[in-house]
Amino acid sequence: MTKPAADTDARCYALVPCAGFGERAGAGGPKQYRQVAGRSVVARTLAALARVPRIERTLVVLSAGDCDFAASAPDFAGWTERCGGATRAASVAAGLTALADHGVRARDWVLVHDAARCLVQAAAVDRLIDACIVDPVGGLLALPLSDTLKQAGAGERVATTLDRHGKWMAQTPQMFRLGMLQLALTRTGAGITDEASAIEALGHAPRLVLGEPDNFKLTWPADFAFAERLLKDAP
Ligand code: C5P
Repeated sequence: MTKPAADTDARCYALVPCAGFGERAGAGGPKQYRQVAGRSVVARTLAALARVPRIERTLVVLSAGDCDFAASAPDFAGWTERCGGATRAASVAAGLTALADHGVRARDWVLVHDAARCLVQAAAVDRLIDACIVDPVGGLLALPLSDTLKQAGAGERVATTLDRHGKWMAQTPQMFRLGMLQLALTRTGAGITDEASAIEALGHAPRLVLGEPDNFKLTWPADFAFAERLLKDAP
């Protein structure tokens, strides 16, 4: 695949939606501000992105009434905007507008990464950038499904077994050009749960780039204990 000449100066930025309330994580406030092994989830996430030299700058989307970010991530040196919306997609769309206001161009790449995926490795983000920067569409980190997939029916009983062949679990970062992603999100609205779905709705096929199991999204109470164990065992 050839890289269009106009793209040679395209830059990479990260956009971190951090305006959720994380009800599924149980009590204790928004999950991105909870502590894991002595440090907030979002501080860990931002430190991981800061280890990727090709990311020029990171913009964090906060909710209008956020009172926790400054104390939770005191070392963060990027942009913050209090433009979070009612859904993740609305927060991302508002973040893209804010990036454009900061001078990020339509052809620049935006890596959207969940604040709640704090175990992402710089090597995986580099792999994503390597794969996408020469791609006309962009793509996402993802994992091929290894378990058998069940469709639940009534009363938490199996209704049917689905074919897992060719199925991948989407992670973040998801890397697309600012202009294409803005257009895509305008078309799909606030309901989608990742950026790739919006790009797919435009008729494009985002590239699947192999992620890592550690890059899970802290969602359920047990995820915090698991993340804590992984960090304590890390060399
Ligand atoms: O709720 P979910 O787990 O899908 O959230 C994924 C990411 O999106 C989290 O980092 C969360 O803070 C963010 N989010 C947001 N605005 C919302 C909902 C979620 O920025 N309205």
